[in-house]
Amino acid sequence: MSDDNGKPHGETMKVLLAFLGKRQQEMTHLLGEFVRCESPSADREAVNRFGQIVASQWRKRGARVRVVRQARRGSHVRAEIVARGIRPSGQILILGHLDTVHPAGTLAKFPYRLSGGRAWGPGTFDMKAGLVLALFAADALQAAGLRPHRRLVFLWTSDEEIGSAASRRLIEQEARRSECVLVLEPPLGRDGRLKTERHGVGDAELIVTGRAAHAGVDPQRGVNAVHELALQIARLLAWDNPRRGIRVQATVVSGGTASNVIPASARAEIDIRYARVGDAPKILRMLRGLRPILPGARIQVRGAISRPPMVRTAASSKLFQQAQSLMREIGLPLGEASTGGGSDGSFAAALGVPTLDGLGAVGDGAHTLREHVVIRTLAQRAALLAGLLASL
Ligand SMILES: [Zn+2]
Repeated sequence: MSDDNGKPHGETMKVLLAFLGKRQQEMTHLLGEFVRCESPSADREAVNRFGQIVASQWRKRGARVRVVRQARRGSHVRAEIVARGIRPSGQILILGHLDTVHPAGTLAKFPYRLSGGRAWGPGTFDMKAGLVLALFAADALQAAGLRPHRRLVFLWTSDEEIGSAASRRLIEQEARRSECVLVLEPPLGRDGRLKTERHGVGDAELIVTGRAAHAGVDPQRGVNAVHELALQIARLLAWDNPRRGIRVQATVVSGGTASNVIPASARAEIDIRYARVGDAPKILRMLRGLRPILPGARIQVRGAISRPPMVRTAASSKLFQQAQSLMREIGLPLGEASTGGGSDGSFAAALGVPTLDGLGAVGDGAHTLREHVVIRTLAQRAALLAGLLASL
């Protein structure tokens, strides 16, 4: 199946796909086990329980597993594989997350099930199927006698869906040691395009304080916090500039107490996306520069950039081309896309490490009760990952 030193050759992808195609049932079975262990980001114990299941799967495959405990979040799981008889030259980081956005109990109304060629359930697409693929890719490499000449580090973090505060340093540390980073987040669209470009993500909170008064008797004595907030949001919307890749959205607003009272407080959350690295400090400066508009109003602004943008580079586009040519060997097209959504891949890309994202299973409905993956793509994407690990 491979030559003496384990290097892949022209038939490699076909061999990998043939092996994985026969394991479709095992893959959906394991995916079911993963999905049934709910792992909402904020529930440390739940994420730890799921992490243990994932860790034991890697131990079964002979990986060196380290569970990286966290004080407030679930533990991260790091699994390392070095092929037998290989002295690795460098490292490939494969990145994913254990947590999902779905609160505990979602499974009761949205149980794991297979129907219409799809596997449905909370966290299937984002991204427990990605975790399954990685395990079967490792199996396929071994079955095909392929011995990657790099150290493979699989890092499954616990808090991606809530901004990665507890994992960012570890991700960056491993990324710096790596020749490239492969991210098993969901791909884009029905055709499963890989992501080579992502917007940066920022968020801001506006807290407005006014003064309460009777809305009919003496409104002049009040300062309307909701009006102030509305004016501030209108001002923020002037920054929205799709052509430059800047998107500003007010996403959560609240304020007021009763319909005949001038509201004394109001609050808004603002989601900010940006495409250019240099726009981050500008956006933060503009946020800090916000001043009250109505006399007597006060505003407090909290703003932060949570993820840098992932910028397409010559090296990342070369990675993509490699993936595309591997898929061509098994007669499958592979496209490339840009997205406004952020991921942990952005941390790696910002360090200048070539990063390829969206390598998970094809599906749809991330973060909703329509979440699913297309079952036949599990084997295809696992073959792609295995092919990349063997040839990079
Ligand atoms: Zn995700």
